[in-house]
Amino acid sequence: MSEKLDDNLPPLREVISKHGLSAKKSFGQNFLLDLNLTCKIARQVPDLKNSHVLEIGPGPGGLSRALLMEGVKTLTVIEKDRRCEPILDEISAAYPNRINTHIGDAMAIDMAEIMSGLDGTDSPVHICANLPYNVGTALLVKWLSGDNWPPFFGSLTLMFQKEVAERIIAKPNCKAYGRLSVLTNWRAKTRILFDIPPSAFTPAPKVTSSVVQIIPTKPCLAGLKMEYLEKITEKAFGQRRKMLRASLKPLGFQTSDLEEIGLTGTERPEQLDVPTIAKLAMLYQEKQSLIKTS
Ligand code: SAM
Repeated sequence: MSEKLDDNLPPLREVISKHGLSAKKSFGQNFLLDLNLTCKIARQVPDLKNSHVLEIGPGPGGLSRALLMEGVKTLTVIEKDRRCEPILDEISAAYPNRINTHIGDAMAIDMAEIMSGLDGTDSPVHICANLPYNVGTALLVKWLSGDNWPPFFGSLTLMFQKEVAERIIAKPNCKAYGRLSVLTNWRAKTRILFDIPPSAFTPAPKVTSSVVQIIPTKPCLAGLKMEYLEKITEKAFGQRRKMLRASLKPLGFQTSDLEEIGLTGTERPEQLDVPTIAKLAMLYQEKQSLIKTS
């Protein structure tokens, strides 16, 4: 497959060798060097040409260059590995005034803040990334955790290990259904767009990856705070084989509380759909606020 990008910049392999960018495991680096694939991912971003896109972990810039070639309005990148800075500067020189580069840890940067300073505030912000495996789920939970909803972004187009992608989109009564499925789907809709085989990456990871799209929606229960949903899912799915009346006992739940929302207490967490788990979390939130005010 060709890796020659049609943007007058050198091919990615040449860039990597010129800058001595050997992939480091500690940064979760598996690079995508195939133009067909990076452009295919970039084209999944909704309303791309009218949008400001935030990319986490541009690395040598394969996806960044695809996003720019596909016509994104501006591209903001956050990269932890300083060795990538000169490469990103070269891309920036080829696309004047289109790239904002931040060198640092995406977990520590206020992304809403850096995206709010861009011109043309009526243009939507979308996030697109081939995420480092070691921080992928933590970043996803961070994006989903904000008290402000709808959030600063209109969509997330993200690459995960296929197994993680399946957990994100999973429905009740299947093995992959768990904490991540609930935390994502209570206020977003999710789907897997396509898979990418290990051979597409340099170096090749051990497992297949999937590109997932996550679009924020109205929460299934207005007023519910993420922290309470996190607590309920942690307790319930932390001991999946236990019945709810046992796993939620440490949070102060009696069987009568569970009956209040139509449960018997003998259910296992994977049997409950997202709105029911949200109701449990709301009950917990109300109980906690009573404790705080009494
Ligand atoms: N986007 C490139 C591509 O598709 O070829 C690189 C993807 S590679 C899987 C992940 C990238 O995320 C690496 O460039 C790595 O240095 C960067 N990275 C790892 N942890 C990070 C963090 N906490 N914040 C920002 N970037 C990070």
